Amino acid sequence: IDLVEKVKAEIRDVVDFPKEGIVFKDITPIMLDPQLSNEIVEHLATQYKDSGITKIAGIESRGFLFGYPLAMRLGIPFILIRKKGKLPYKKVSYSYDLEYGSATIEMHEDAVDANDKVLVHDDLLATGGSAEAAAHLIKKCGASVEAFNFLVSLDFLEGDQKLKQFTDNIQAIVN
Ligand code: 5GP
Repeated sequence: IDLVEKVKAEIRDVVDFPKEGIVFKDITPIMLDPQLSNEIVEHLATQYKDSGITKIAGIESRGFLFGYPLAMRLGIPFILIRKKGKLPYKKVSYSYDLEYGSATIEMHEDAVDANDKVLVHDDLLATGGSAEAAAHLIKKCGASVEAFNFLVSLDFLEGDQKLKQFTDNIQAIVN
């Protein structure tokens, strides 16, 4: 079977998490399978090796799981985008509205510069709010967002509509 089917087979649907009515896509079974994990990184490395990206930004926290190995495989730096208050050094932040309230994300000020073409990576694309905020933060630092990548995209939520303002290069292994 091909990679898409293998990844699909190892994503566990958890009903009513984190609240009633939501079916959470649990990707932790993939991490229990080092061979499949390796295949995912190799697949993504092939996909992005000649894309011109200079850095990978991972969105806290599951965006770190495959983002960092992929960056190492491509021989490019990895940068962390985290919730407010987690990073120790000088930071740049971006605040955005949520359905109820607001959220702030941060990145170290030396993480990107104006020459960077960044791939934004996360485990899953839902409404697109997290990835959109990450892209705004990267642009605020003068870098450009070259592509978005996810292991899973919940296409029915049309989160990609929020990301097209940055780039049309939006991909997922499982749609
Ligand atoms: P969005 O901002 O696109 O609405 O939500 C995506 C963010 O929430 C990602 O950081 C992702 O890790 C997390 N998320 C939302 N729903 C799920 C889910 O069903 N499974 C997983 N693994 N993450 C989710």
